[in-house]
Parts: sequence; structure tokens; C-alpha cells
Amino acid sequence: MKHPWWMKGVPFTCQSGCGKCCDEPDGIVYLSMHDAKRISGRLGMEVTEWLSRDCRQTLDGRYVLKSRESDGICIYLNEEKQCNIYAIRPQQCAAYPWWGENLATERSWERTKQDCPGLTAEDAIIIDGSSIRIHVLADRQSSKGFREWVD
Ligand code: SF4
Repeated sequence: MKHPWWMKGVPFTCQSGCGKCCDEPDGIVYLSMHDAKRISGRLGMEVTEWLSRDCRQTLDGRYVLKSRESDGICIYLNEEKQCNIYAIRPQQCAAYPWWGENLATERSWERTKQDCPGLTAEDAIIIDGSSIRIHVLADRQSSKGFREWVD
């Protein structure tokens, strides 16, 4: 089978203080069941309690993180444009920019490079294909999401 183009590695270093990928009104972050268990546990909450406080369901029922009503930005992005739960953030957030939809075509990848300064930064280092693939799979799993919490 032919390897995807990114298997040979892609330069990237996330830029400190950037936050551009989170600072998008009405951005959608799909959650996996693993995310829900892990994040609620680290916040010292029951999963159902966390889902009802910090998440909502899309029209098709999948759980996503809530956005602020005032500006549509993720509830966890603070005024310094930093993530309040960075160390335990959802796997789809951690997988950016290696989302399937970004890597899908030349055009979508060009757009991602314009959106994410880390892909064209001078200090970018080559991320190897195996590491990228882990993120691609995590993004795919998160995108499937879940609609009901079952312990
Ligand atoms: S847009 Fe790119 S460089 Fe900026 S915070 Fe997101 S991943 Fe990092």
C-alpha cells in the first residue's frame, strides 16, 4: 500500500504564546470516551458532572467542549491565550495540526500551513511519520466521538 505523503516527516514546532488554533469562534472539539474519563478524573469530577458542566452535544448527539457564549471561544482558553487544561487537553486538540481533514489534500494542507505558524517556523523540527500517524488515528477516533456515557 502507498504511504501517505506525510510519512516521510513534516517540519513543525508549536509556537509559544500563539494559541491561534484554539482562538477560533465556534471551533468544534470532539471528545473520545477516554478524554471524558481522563479529563473529568483529573479535575476531580464525575464524568457525567463534567459532561454537563463543560460539554454540550452537537445536533447529531456527539459530545464536544463548550464555547463561551460571549465570543464563541473554547471555555478553557484563558485571557493569556493559554489553555487552562493544557496538560490534560482532549486528544483532538493535542493532535492538531495532524487532523485527517488538514492532511487530506494539497489545498487543505496549504490552508493549514497558513493557519498554523508552527508549520513554517524557523525552529520547526521534522516530526516523523509514525508520530504523525498516532495523531491522525487519535483525531479519527475523536471525530467518531460518543453520544452517551456508559461506565
Ligand atoms: S496554531 Fe500551530 S503554532 Fe499556533 S498554537 Fe496552534 S499548533 Fe501551535
